[in-house]
Amino acid sequence: MLTTAHCKIRLKTLPSNIKCVQGKKNGPCVVIMGAVHGNERLGKAVVESLWHEIQPENLYGELVLIIGNPVAYAQHQRCIHSDLNRLFGAQIEILKKKAVSTLNIEEKRAIEIAPFLEKADYLLDIHATMKPSVPFVYCEKTKAHLKFAYVFETEYVVFPATHCRISELASSTDNYVDQHGGLGFTYEAGWLEGQIIFSEAMTKTYKFLEAVGSLQSSFANSKKSQKIPKKVEINDYVIPQSLHFHFKKDFSNFDIVKKGEIIAEDQGKIYRATKVSFVIFPKRKIIPGTPACYLGNY
Ligand SMILES: [Zn+2]
Repeated sequence: MLTTAHCKIRLKTLPSNIKCVQGKKNGPCVVIMGAVHGNERLGKAVVESLWHEIQPENLYGELVLIIGNPVAYAQHQRCIHSDLNRLFGAQIEILKKKAVSTLNIEEKRAIEIAPFLEKADYLLDIHATMKPSVPFVYCEKTKAHLKFAYVFETEYVVFPATHCRISELASSTDNYVDQHGGLGFTYEAGWLEGQIIFSEAMTKTYKFLEAVGSLQSSFANSKKSQKIPKKVEINDYVIPQSLHFHFKKDFSNFDIVKKGEIIAEDQGKIYRATKVSFVIFPKRKIIPGTPACYLGNY
């Protein structure tokens, strides 16, 4: 049974598309979220499956299931007005002080979601990439984070270097959970236009729930078979200065650029890799002043 009555986050009524399942046993408060970007369809399917499958009798602690941006999802759009996954930095505190009637769709949703993220011991936010990619985990590089990131058995775990904290890398849902004492993870399940395998995402989500102590383990030998991913640290980024910016090739996630290789051009300005690097999160839509891609090393 899904209920609001026992929710650790006590609200008279839950906002739409958010469910709390209170376990019969003590355990962590875990948030699983999907469709923070409305065009990333898989996360919502995972969240909805958990709604039907997770029973209070089998659950330790509390599970909060959130469909991030249902309005954008209904319209097959990444977002309607603002990128919801860029509102959880300094901006959230400003939004909290504003009248709700003045907020746009994503700003309102950020205010609705924030209390759950503040209470979460663990967050798994399921996304898909704009460009072709193998699945990977994005999180901080602490021992505690890496322990749970390894559960996903991806080829890569990506994290930002401490000197590389521009607002785009400090305003996502996982950042917000980390700031409030929890452990935040973003799982990039693959390319949103490619063949993303639902069953694989479900299996990994269940493994995560078992690893954090929400469910009893059914993967007894998973530790032995665990593959250690390459740890890729984001050390740099490429910021377009105009809409004339263009990449030298159609980069996919984890494409490698050599030292000195031209990455992009913008009105005569040439962007070169200063060392051999992975291209991370290459964007389709260029927005001057915001990163067109990041560069990572391991
Ligand atoms: Zn996304």
